[in-house]
Amino acid sequence: MAERSVEFLLIGGGMAAGNCARHLREQGAEGEILLVGREPDPPYNRPPLSKGYMLGKESRDEVAFRPPDWYEEQRVEALTRTSVTSLDPAARVAKLSSKDEIRFDKALLATGSNVRILRVEGAHLDGIHYLRTLGNADAIREEAAQAERVALVGAGYIATELAASLTTLGKQCEIVMLEDVTLERFYGQQIGRFFQDVLTTHGVKVHGGQELERFEGTDRVQKMVTKSGLEIECDFVVIGAGVTPEIGLAERAGLETATGVLVDRYLETSAPGIFAAGDIAEYDSVIHGRTLRIEHWDVAFNQGRYAALNMLGRREPYDVVPYFWSDLADWASIEYVGPASEWDDVWIRGSLEDGVFTAFYVHGGRVAAALTCGRSDDLTAAARMLKENTDVSGIRSRIEDTGADLGEFA
Ligand SMILES: Cc1cc2nc3c(=O)[nH]c(=O)nc-3n(C[C@H](O)[C@H](O)[C@H](O)COP(=O)(O)OP(=O)(O)OC[C@H]3O[C@@H](n4cnc5c(N)ncnc54)[C@H](O)[C@@H]3O)c2cc1C
Repeated sequence: MAERSVEFLLIGGGMAAGNCARHLREQGAEGEILLVGREPDPPYNRPPLSKGYMLGKESRDEVAFRPPDWYEEQRVEALTRTSVTSLDPAARVAKLSSKDEIRFDKALLATGSNVRILRVEGAHLDGIHYLRTLGNADAIREEAAQAERVALVGAGYIATELAASLTTLGKQCEIVMLEDVTLERFYGQQIGRFFQDVLTTHGVKVHGGQELERFEGTDRVQKMVTKSGLEIECDFVVIGAGVTPEIGLAERAGLETATGVLVDRYLETSAPGIFAAGDIAEYDSVIHGRTLRIEHWDVAFNQGRYAALNMLGRREPYDVVPYFWSDLADWASIEYVGPASEWDDVWIRGSLEDGVFTAFYVHGGRVAAALTCGRSDDLTAAARMLKENTDVSGIRSRIEDTGADLGEFA
């Protein structure tokens, strides 16, 4: 067992930790930065795993957060295949799976999410996959190279993006989901239906209102069966049943948690000097006036930066409007600011029929969220309206008029 001291310990090798390391150095931190991640790779971008990387358009090097020499140049030590197994906030000591003990001045917890595993009959069969890591993406690509028919479970981003990518690669994809309509949980029925139509128009079969019962096969999965008796023959399966934040380490360390690790507007946890960012951070949003925990790349990226600033004592409240994007191959691109947990109405600027529109989710006369497909410029104004809590109750017709300049209202 070795003992050592560092100024900054970044726990978790994802986007939030990677970007925190970068900004610590850019902002002039001189001390040692140690980033500890349990995956085989240093930080990389996950969004391409279901999109460009799955399609073979982006390489492993292109998805890396930074090239290998960056770490040495920036004096950021990145330990891979190593877990932080315990954290003592009072003593400021962490233990690693290598048995080493690290003393630190400031720490960032950015342990991200784990996929939600479905435990149904036949779940042990070969050929059943989840997608979170580069290794998972490689395994799915290998399967796809041999396969014709893919069964996907879930109504969210993973199932829809993968169905689009794998269909583009010439596979026959079928989605099974509990929900009636894809993506409805985030965007509601009307907009969810639009994206579901995009999928079905390109040949994806979508089965809503179906609960998975079992997988069948001898060694490998051959069939997926739902409770209502729908049977889907397949060569492999991908399950996209959501994720859960990895907060066990924080809980064992006695930090305050709810659905995630609770942080204030400076992203500091209940233990002074220990910050949290990304998928696990349940933060006090100055914009929304409530706590939020968001599982999106842009939030992890920005929170990594704000955490760095605040680890350096700058007291910068995190006040970025959460932004998210998703691509269904090159069929449709989604960009979204929000998030809206509820809304009274959806105002459409543009045309769903033409597939070029921005949907404004309005609640109590205020913009709670906006989603655009092909009208990215609208999103800047929508984000400003959201941030400034602009009263839009009297201007529906102007917002819906594509000839009107949204800049006037934001
Ligand atoms: C296939 C896919 C596509 C996506 N597409 C989009 C998209 O289009 N747009 C978008 O906005 N978002 C997208 N996301 C979500 C986005 O990638 C995540 O929100 C983001 O990666 C979160 O970053 P993070 O740093 O919080 O956590 P993570 O990226 O999950 O990284 C956390 C890391 O910490 C490690 N770790 C956990 N516990 C420990 C421990 N005790 N010790 C050491 N290491 C530990 C984990 O193994 C992991 O490597 C996508 C995600 C996936 C999987």
